[in-house]
Amino acid sequence: MDNNKELREKLLIKKKNGGRLLSEEEIQKAEKFSEGYKIFLDEGKTEREAVFYAVEEAKKKGFEEFDKNKSYKPGDKIYSVNKEKSLILAVIGKNGVKNGVSMAIAHVDSPRIDLKPRPLYEDSEMALFKTHYYGGIKKYQWTAMPLAMHGKVVRADGTQVDIKLGEKLDEQCFCITDLLPHLAGEQMRKVMSKAITGENLNVVAGSIPLREDNESDSVKLNIMKLINEKYDITEEDFVSAEIELVPAYKAQDIGFDRSLIGAYGHDDRSCAYPCLEAIMDTEVSDNTVVTVLVDKEEIGSEGNTGMKSLFLKYFIADLAEREGLKGRDVLRKSKCLSADVNAAFDPTYSGEYEAANSCYVNRGAVITKYTGSGGKSGTSDASAEFMGEVRSKLNKENVLWQTGQLGKVDAGGGGTIAKYVANLCVDVVDVGIPVLSMHSPFEIVSKIDVYMLYRAVLAFFK
Ligand code: MN
Ligand code: MN
Repeated sequence: MDNNKELREKLLIKKKNGGRLLSEEEIQKAEKFSEGYKIFLDEGKTEREAVFYAVEEAKKKGFEEFDKNKSYKPGDKIYSVNKEKSLILAVIGKNGVKNGVSMAIAHVDSPRIDLKPRPLYEDSEMALFKTHYYGGIKKYQWTAMPLAMHGKVVRADGTQVDIKLGEKLDEQCFCITDLLPHLAGEQMRKVMSKAITGENLNVVAGSIPLREDNESDSVKLNIMKLINEKYDITEEDFVSAEIELVPAYKAQDIGFDRSLIGAYGHDDRSCAYPCLEAIMDTEVSDNTVVTVLVDKEEIGSEGNTGMKSLFLKYFIADLAEREGLKGRDVLRKSKCLSADVNAAFDPTYSGEYEAANSCYVNRGAVITKYTGSGGKSGTSDASAEFMGEVRSKLNKENVLWQTGQLGKVDAGGGGTIAKYVANLCVDVVDVGIPVLSMHSPFEIVSKIDVYMLYRAVLAFFK
């Protein structure tokens, strides 16, 4: 019997629930870490806001804007912002970049509802906004709930105004209507993906007409007048605007044990925050360490602020040239944690998961060797060598970690930025957080897992 116990201990993977395994002290640290995380969630509901918040925090910790012509020494902290929507932070290492850099990359965009370029219209004496959803959403989840408006408008004269409305309880918020069940007989018989269409996602903007005006656009005009008084913009200014509707509520603890956090945007801010904190807590390592926060992951990493842009490649090239090296030689030796969320095993929908290879809340940072769909299509499959390296680094620092996959084979699938980093010849693997109700307006993560990802990135940077 004792022999079997020994054998089991030696040969098999154990289930590791952080709630049972971690010391009281470490759980307290996770609790404290999550308080900071909740502030980040509430302050950074859009990619611009998250980047702004990260830069402000980094400046407080001594990070200075990167200047190609300045000389840097080990321990110097620099940052570079790309068009207000993506950000690179770096701490120069003792060896500079000659042995490659250690990177952690997360994205700061989340699924949401964007206003169309010509959003405002009137129908049946109500003013509404036309929208175009961003990222993979289940549309019915975004109706009949309070939405806040965040964004930026560039006026005809080039001046700009930031919008953030609906976050405070005494402020007005916005909402997409849904049909009452009494009249929804036909709607309820439709398949879920058809019950609410993209063109149904119209946002209520107001309902009172302009006084002493009997034209058919009187409500629209009144609402535009109020918008103009508040932000000094005209209808045409919406053309040069990016206005995003996001859930109006704040991050909140979940459960009697307060072990979980419910919030909008855990994908991927639950990874962005640990990557940010880890680099801010790194004094100096052998290699230069780099945290990148990118935009546009939810729509395929496109555009000049997404991971497919050359922002990171050029930044590394700039660092390399200062040391008389080539960027490509540095990238070839570089390593990266692609920090993104994975689907936590949900007992209510267990049929879509494969239990042994799924990740679970409270079992720590999740290492995902590959994502993709079908026969591993559209993924960067991390090598055995690099998996081995990451695993041993996490073990050495006693980081609680687990493996994960995105559901059972052929259940669906998804991707991360890992494959675009891999294209740069960098060794990369996904390491992240298990999330329940991913891509919904109220996702759930565990405090222990968020803290353990921070510990994992710190260990990787060492
Ligand atoms: Mn993600
Ligand atoms: Mn996502």
